[in-house]
Amino acid sequence: MKAIVRTSLEPGCMEIQERPIPEIAEDEVLIKVKAVGVCGTDLHIYNGNVVTGTDVVIGHELSGVIDKVGAKVTKVKPGERVVSRLNVGVCGTCKACLSGNPQMCEHRTCPGHWVDGAFAEYMKIDEKQLLTFSDDLSFEEAAFTEPMACVATALLERTKVMPEDIVVVFGPGPIGLLAAQMAKIYGASKVIVVGTAPDKELRLPLAKKLGADITLVSGEDDVEKILSDLTNGEGIDLAVDCSGAAPAINSCLRMLRKLGRMCVIGLPGRREIPIEWKTAAEKSLEVIFSYSSTPTSWNTCLSMLERGAIDVKSMISHKVGLEDFKEVFAATGRGEVIKAIIEP
Ligand SMILES: [Zn+2]
Ligand SMILES: [Zn+2]
Repeated sequence: MKAIVRTSLEPGCMEIQERPIPEIAEDEVLIKVKAVGVCGTDLHIYNGNVVTGTDVVIGHELSGVIDKVGAKVTKVKPGERVVSRLNVGVCGTCKACLSGNPQMCEHRTCPGHWVDGAFAEYMKIDEKQLLTFSDDLSFEEAAFTEPMACVATALLERTKVMPEDIVVVFGPGPIGLLAAQMAKIYGASKVIVVGTAPDKELRLPLAKKLGADITLVSGEDDVEKILSDLTNGEGIDLAVDCSGAAPAINSCLRMLRKLGRMCVIGLPGRREIPIEWKTAAEKSLEVIFSYSSTPTSWNTCLSMLERGAIDVKSMISHKVGLEDFKEVFAATGRGEVIKAIIEP
């Protein structure tokens, strides 16, 4: 089978290889991969900025059909349509695991990072990771379950949108566009999406189409003044950072009302960034970080997709085969892509 393999930790070291179809153990299934999203993390891996295993198939936002099941598999059967959680190798006994957060287990070996992932014709995984979905949901939409689950964990489970919250989202990439929609569905009275000048062409108009009440361009609009006026000087209730950029993060802290909440989904490129610690302290802000996704958030998101509560279709700007991955990664780097889907 064809697969996109990371061959070393150097930038650009990913290539198409011919590999054997994975052998499955008795508790595993073989998935014929139908659609895989290209994630920001995949781009960081391609650029050499994220450490993973090498000689590993990349890709983790998948949907597919079960091709074969191991002897001890009982919950799923060949032909079923599935998405897959990524909590492989978790111990089940650490505090993270025991609290329902295996995604934070130290022993986790995430497919697409440490064991073979989904940029391939086939992928294997243990049956416990799988959720099935109906024929009514397309594979390309189902492939959004993973990024949606990261947003749902951060925004719905950890930060919690409250009824009538005024919510600002920084960073209108796929994660920000999902966050804006979820905030709206789960109770926000107004959602404001803030981007930068390059977002004016594609991403901010799409944010509007997906339900944002206001879109603003930082560096052109006086974002803090506009949002202060909008709230009669009180400040916004909830800020969601999907940018990881220091100016945006500090803007969030300044714009929040006293006792406001900030949800942090964006990972900054650098380990340290200067932030207005005192501003946050004086306002008694709650700043909630979130990484990866809980198992329960996957059920929430698949349900949202199946009942058509959220529009992910409009976010798909590119669909390509495995062999065209370099072009689509380059276009993603140039900001021409909203979401690219690879169909192996
Ligand atoms: Zn992802
Ligand atoms: Zn554990």
